[in-house]
Amino acid sequence: MSELISTKADLRSALDQLSGSVALVMTMGALHEGHLSLVRAAKEAADHVVVSIFVNPLQFGPDEDFDSYPRQLEADTALLDTVGVDLVFAPEESEMYPREPLVRINPGPMATVYEGTTRPIHFAGVLQVVHKVLNLVRPDVAFFGQKDAQQLALIRTMVADLDMPVQIQAVPIKREETGLALSSRNTYLGEDEYIEALALNQALALGKDAARHGSSPEQVRDVSMKYLAEAPGVKLDYLAVVDPETFEDLVEVGVPAHGRGLIITAAWVGSTRLIDNREVRFDG
Ligand code: AMP
Repeated sequence: MSELISTKADLRSALDQLSGSVALVMTMGALHEGHLSLVRAAKEAADHVVVSIFVNPLQFGPDEDFDSYPRQLEADTALLDTVGVDLVFAPEESEMYPREPLVRINPGPMATVYEGTTRPIHFAGVLQVVHKVLNLVRPDVAFFGQKDAQQLALIRTMVADLDMPVQIQAVPIKREETGLALSSRNTYLGEDEYIEALALNQALALGKDAARHGSSPEQVRDVSMKYLAEAPGVKLDYLAVVDPETFEDLVEVGVPAHGRGLIITAAWVGSTRLIDNREVRFDG
């Protein structure tokens, strides 16, 4: 059984009892197999695993789903017990933010595009909490999902720019058999919406196929975008082909030397906003 901890002081004493390396998995709860794949990777990598569960208010815009975001701590800890972790850190908001933080992380230009266009304060809030939890846990390694690719790129950038003493590891997107990327927000989808939501992955798969057959970033973008724009029940927010490290638009800047691209998309299905992405190669 993992130890459930809600204060920073208890977290520090519990961490002090551990010897050996520590891996961290940060989550907002409502855990699913995607989260568990991070936990399993963390277990492979370190002697001890800490999972944090905190719905971070700073990363939600005023019209977003902070209040309705699923909170189910008991089910989450039970699920974590099936894998086995050392510590679960689930603080209250007042513990994490005893007052409104005055010193803020400025995530820079990468936070103003794609997700950042629709969610302008999102990444500043994400980096603020990631920085805090990394400082609280001081893990050797922290695991983040490829599902949130722009978040991952920004966390890597923060760690590099601030020389933070942690290794960042990415874990591939976990999908259902239907291809839908697992997400805590999938529970918002009705039956018909679930079927409609499959179009995101299908659009990305078409783009990936086009890249495999030698298409340019522009052609890949167009083929994926056309499919998703015409998909019933789906309202496209953005679809682009970017450099996975910098999030520069490959249609504008050209294929980088490493040859890797990322097709990224966000779309609404009903009132649920979903994101997905897929890696592609442009070096033949
Ligand atoms: P969240 O609880 O949504 O903040 O996610 C916590 C972590 O789990 C983040 O690093 C996410 O990228 C990762 N994650 C969420 N869904 C998936 C998925 N389907 N596959 C892999 N990682 C995921």
